[in-house]
Amino acid sequence: MRFISEFRRSELAEGLISQIHRKSRTPARFMEFCGGHTVTIFRYGIRQVLPQTIDMVSGPGCPICVTANADLDKAIALSRIPDIIITTFGDMLKVPGSRSSLQQVKADGAEVHTVYSTMDALKIAEDNPDKSVVFLGIGFETTAPTIAASILQAVEKGIGNYYVLSLHKLCPPVIRALLDSGEVKLDGLICPGHVSAIIGSHPWEFIARDYGIPCVVSGFEPLDILQCVDMLIAQVENGESRVEIAYRRGVRPEGNQQAMRLMEQVFEPSPAQWRGMGEIPDSGLKLREKYQRFDAELAFDIEPGPTSEPVGCICGDILRGVRTPADCRLFGKACIPENPIGPCMVSSEGSCSAYYLYGGSFEG
Ligand code: SF4
Repeated sequence: MRFISEFRRSELAEGLISQIHRKSRTPARFMEFCGGHTVTIFRYGIRQVLPQTIDMVSGPGCPICVTANADLDKAIALSRIPDIIITTFGDMLKVPGSRSSLQQVKADGAEVHTVYSTMDALKIAEDNPDKSVVFLGIGFETTAPTIAASILQAVEKGIGNYYVLSLHKLCPPVIRALLDSGEVKLDGLICPGHVSAIIGSHPWEFIARDYGIPCVVSGFEPLDILQCVDMLIAQVENGESRVEIAYRRGVRPEGNQQAMRLMEQVFEPSPAQWRGMGEIPDSGLKLREKYQRFDAELAFDIEPGPTSEPVGCICGDILRGVRTPADCRLFGKACIPENPIGPCMVSSEGSCSAYYLYGGSFEG
């Protein structure tokens, strides 16, 4: 198949669904790690067409959702410092921090710009030499190489007013933390496609080896997800656990070595705070010593004040896969996409947003 429309063909989907129903005998719970997969699953009603034996649960793979309020408060505090321009991807603007949001401080006069790439942020720095431009480095392994590239370009061009607030997160360590917590029992993991395009499939092998959980890397179209579920069921029924790739058009086992080198040249692993999960060792990225002059946390006096969580919001539990948006008493009432109370309702990849827009049934 070569075109996206071919990954949505109903007759192929029907064939796969029948195969899944024939094959699945053992009750199994699968987690889709990635928010992009959550959206596909809800948008195309995939949960509803699976057999009763298969329980699906959403995981913590939405980078905006997992950004801790304490980190978001740092970004908001930075935006209040005179002569700083904050640059960020659009979804971040509406996420409520402890007392405000980037959208609110922008309305109050702070300079907050939405950009589509790190190179746009660098251009703003070039065009505003009398200001300091901070890019909010929020994302997984997918975005970190592009941010590394922007820093190397700043070095090359001698741009001295560009900074990064590095709030990056690494995916394999959070899966390990989730499994070690024992809070959620899984029989299979749908591994993220975009992240795996960078890191490859090897970094997931510990899940199959150490925890005996089958893993399949999936793409983002409905047929990708169905194929992935079918492959997971085959492993479950055969009593196997290994890592497979159902997204060969995007992922190689060794990943994208060039992107990995770029990331490793500029960043090194560090502890990171995850919403709902606390600090997880080596699950974040900080700038290596050679590039520390670009580190916004070191360059500016940031005073974020005390952190608090939105009252009644259970995003943390949802991100750990122990509750669903339907368990939140604010869902669809006080909390809707136009008036989000927590990040899972803001982000286009957030579980609450996906449930709200496409949910219909809240089973599982
Ligand atoms: Fe938080 Fe809103 Fe989701 Fe409830 S519905 S968990 S308040 S984002």
